Amino acid sequence: MTEEESKLRVKLAACYRIFAHLGWDELIYNHITVKIPGSQGQFLINPYGLHYSEVTASNLLKVNVKGEKLGHSPHQPNPAGMIIHTAIHSAREDAVCIGHLHTDAGSVVACQQNGLRHDNFYSVLLHGQVAYHDFEGITVMPGEQERLVASLGDKSLLILRNHGLLACGNSIEDMFMRLWLLQRACEIQVSADASGQPLIPIDQSIAEKTAQLLKLQTGPVAPGVLEFNALLRKIDRLDNSYKE
Ligand SMILES: [Zn+2]
Repeated sequence: MTEEESKLRVKLAACYRIFAHLGWDELIYNHITVKIPGSQGQFLINPYGLHYSEVTASNLLKVNVKGEKLGHSPHQPNPAGMIIHTAIHSAREDAVCIGHLHTDAGSVVACQQNGLRHDNFYSVLLHGQVAYHDFEGITVMPGEQERLVASLGDKSLLILRNHGLLACGNSIEDMFMRLWLLQRACEIQVSADASGQPLIPIDQSIAEKTAQLLKLQTGPVAPGVLEFNALLRKIDRLDNSYKE
């Protein structure tokens, strides 16, 4: 195993623990994957059957975009996870990391006919950046892969209708930040709807301008790194067994 893969394993395992800490875990389901650089389509995924709080650097599975498990492990990957993640990792070079959620807020918005409205502080940042994929049942049929990739198009955020949320990023931190924004946007929408109060729409031109600002934002640190590292320090204080 290369040093790069070892480091990636630790970071991805930490990401699973961060998801669990935020309440983004779903029993033994859902998945976060990251491509191994220079490996020709190999990526890491969680062992199916373990809770996110049990994922460690060493028990992550190595698989490839053909859906094959590589190396020795008593565990298997989640079949639905393999369908979704092999499709997107194969089709999109820039989708280095993919995360998928079934949170209440994400799933509620995924069930709403009009999807995400760009009328709150977080969702306005995502104006024009969210794709939708129609529900076809549990994602276990290979035939859906082509349609899934077509639905995603060139976007990095995907609302799986009647199902949940998905984000791609060019790193674990980038995926995390995008998914966090989408999740927050959904949380506010669900709470705002529950308030029963009339909502204030955001003017289209302001929405476009705001979303553009986020796209143009560049700094000395790559997107999501400061945020991810802050949560990493928190996880480290609670339980750093993910490094094993
Ligand atoms: Zn799912």
